[in-house]
Amino acid sequence: MTWLQYWQKNKESIKPIDTKEVEKSSEELANKISMWQGDITSLEIDAIVNAANSSLLGGGGVDGAIHRAAGPILKKECATLNGCAVGEAKITGGYKLPAKYVIHTVGPQGEKPEKLKECYVNSLRVAKENSVKTIAFPCISTGVYGYPQKPAAEVAIETVKKYLQDNINDIERIIFCLFLESDKEIYEELLQKYFS
Ligand code: ADP
Repeated sequence: MTWLQYWQKNKESIKPIDTKEVEKSSEELANKISMWQGDITSLEIDAIVNAANSSLLGGGGVDGAIHRAAGPILKKECATLNGCAVGEAKITGGYKLPAKYVIHTVGPQGEKPEKLKECYVNSLRVAKENSVKTIAFPCISTGVYGYPQKPAAEVAIETVKKYLQDNINDIERIIFCLFLESDKEIYEELLQKYFS
């Protein structure tokens, strides 16, 4: 067989490598996501996310719980960071927490989807920069900051899904830490919807 005959015979089966990013299956993405109900300060993982305020000097809700559990040195480190703008994220040590790091992000007050999305995107970016493989998010902005729970959950899940599509090998597990029964019900429903 000449090379030409060979080529003609095989040209159908020889295809160039498809370098386009292959769409990940929902199952592959869902394998990296968990929901867990309870106190985020009890999680022994690489990083927990704090729904902080822009001073980064502590507050109520999950912020207060994290500072209480981490001990006063966390506030000392936070004081060196010059605060944090809405949608941004900054990392500190976890001190007395079982988590190695705390990623502080400042959610919007009220329903501002673009800003809430930035909180998740920037927290995940900071996590990646610090080789964080396991991370837990509280329901940012849905407490004192008054973002309605379900629309906030939609932003959280959509943003995390998109992140996984683009960065699946950079992370082992993303946990939605749900404190309230009502959030647990919302996430149960939405995770089914987004990952089936
Ligand atoms: P924000 O000011 O961003 O609204 P909050 O702390 O008031 O932040 O509320 C954000 C979410 O964190 C709410 O769903 C609240 O129920 C939840 N939360 C409060 N304490 C904890 C905790 N210890 N662990 C996890 N989530 C918590």
